[in-house]
Amino acid sequence: MIDRRSFITGLSAGGAFAAGARDAPRKRFAEERVERITAPPKPALAINHLGFTPPGRKSVVFRLTGGMPAEFTFRDIGSSPKPPELTRRFTRFTSDLGDCLVGDLSDIVRPGMYQVEAGGERSVPFFIGEDVWRRTLVKAVSYIHAQRCGTAVPNVHPVCHLDDARRRDNGGHVDTTGGWHDAGDLRKWMSATVLNGIALMGLLRNLGDDWDAAGSGAKALLDEARWGNTYFLKMQDGDGLVWDDVAGGVNGDNSDNHWTDNRTGTGDDRYINTNKSGSVQALFTLFEAMMATAFRAADPAYSERCLRAAVRCWDAATRSGGTGEVSWWALAAMELGRATGAAGYRDHALKFGSLILSAQNTAFTFGQKFVRGWFRVSSNSPDPYADVVHGALPVITLLLLAQAYPDAAQAGQWGDAVKLHLDGYVLPMAARSPYGIVPFGIFHGTPSAELYRPLAGELTYRFFMPVQRGDWWIGSTSHLESYALAGILAASEFGNSAYRDLAMRQLEWVMGANPFGACLMTGEGMRNPYPHSRFVGLIPGGIMNGIAGNANDEPILDIENGFDWRTTEYWTPHNAYYILAVSALHRRA
Ligand SMILES: [Zn+2]
Repeated sequence: MIDRRSFITGLSAGGAFAAGARDAPRKRFAEERVERITAPPKPALAINHLGFTPPGRKSVVFRLTGGMPAEFTFRDIGSSPKPPELTRRFTRFTSDLGDCLVGDLSDIVRPGMYQVEAGGERSVPFFIGEDVWRRTLVKAVSYIHAQRCGTAVPNVHPVCHLDDARRRDNGGHVDTTGGWHDAGDLRKWMSATVLNGIALMGLLRNLGDDWDAAGSGAKALLDEARWGNTYFLKMQDGDGLVWDDVAGGVNGDNSDNHWTDNRTGTGDDRYINTNKSGSVQALFTLFEAMMATAFRAADPAYSERCLRAAVRCWDAATRSGGTGEVSWWALAAMELGRATGAAGYRDHALKFGSLILSAQNTAFTFGQKFVRGWFRVSSNSPDPYADVVHGALPVITLLLLAQAYPDAAQAGQWGDAVKLHLDGYVLPMAARSPYGIVPFGIFHGTPSAELYRPLAGELTYRFFMPVQRGDWWIGSTSHLESYALAGILAASEFGNSAYRDLAMRQLEWVMGANPFGACLMTGEGMRNPYPHSRFVGLIPGGIMNGIAGNANDEPILDIENGFDWRTTEYWTPHNAYYILAVSALHRRA
């Protein structure tokens, strides 16, 4: 099993041109097996299983795997008497993900339950309605609750890990109980689980008390975030810096991934990884500052405690790194400025914003004039930034800076950089398939022995992570959802509906508009794969790593109950970006 800490925090560090990338690792049987699970001929119809809000683009994709229907029918299946069905013509779409037909339903805005039929197939029934996305937030948040550690979660697991944990370096016990299990296992990575807290704070900020129609209110979000924070605060060392994980595995392995006897000092106690990674410091500072703001009225003493923790970490950290890490520090500075009212943090936020700008490739390079505006892994590296978890982080950061500091001298540059990234890179790349997904990344040539699709000049690209380049790869869910968040923020900032449509296509792929016709959130939609979740099984609202690619960059997904973690494991960042994107979609004016 891989080391999820380095997975999430170090993804952009290697870069597309890393030396030695041609040495493919030896593959295990399970890995080879899932690489063969490409999309079956049926369902050929792909439409997202939740449905659509009344405004915006609505499309259906039919893969040409056999027959070639010229038209599709569309009917209201919820009304009585039933209105007459509509028949429409498809448009042919030749693409790098295979030839397809595309049908458009954008003009249908009447709320109701509908179904599409084409080529003898019926789609999953879906809604048109204002709340089709919003109402899934409760399930996505309940997933976080189900992952609580250090307590019993009724119908999920009995009380657990009251004996967390002992230090890896000197064996001393430190009370680090609490927090949330990450993913389909029992480990507590800071780099991943702090994202739960950030998502809860973002949801609270976007929708407030009304986030849940059942009325659980802001208190439910504050309580959940505070539960996670009991653990996060315990992870702060005396020097102000924060440890990386509890139970991550002593040698990057699964040795700590087990239930324990809840008694301190016995042989099954798990370990604290006392390493202090840079991006973990930034995430911690960001989250604690958000907590300080959120709790200021409800619990001033607790708010002050969170703020002190944030400032101590900020002061102790070196606050440098590549484009990804600098983005987190920009957001941390912004939130510290908001929480303290101190002007100095704004200057830091602007400085980090300038570093992000300097890492953007504004010119056409590599002998092509097709794409520009993509980010590099750092301002002094030629390598494109590609991160399967935080793919859109730099552009999200620029958008949030522009929201926070509209009067800053750099605000115009941030806006220009966002538009150049979306118009000059993301939209042309997303147009290369009928599903509208943002490919994983661009590359210079062929860095490893597998298919890199020709793009233009010396540039190639892949829809999915390379599987031969490093020693791990996973599905694209977080990458796509992060671009959903970026698109929604950009649509709001610039009033451009094309950015909203881009955003929705990313979410729609995750919720069923993909070549497998599979919804990747447990408890929503149909044809959900069985998740890699080996301690508690199904968790409603959990979102899987999702569709990856094989050496030929064909979409693959374990729909054969193979327990494949690369495509079907739940991971915290997927729920975090989903909650942030969907709540931003419905954000109060
Ligand atoms: Zn636990």
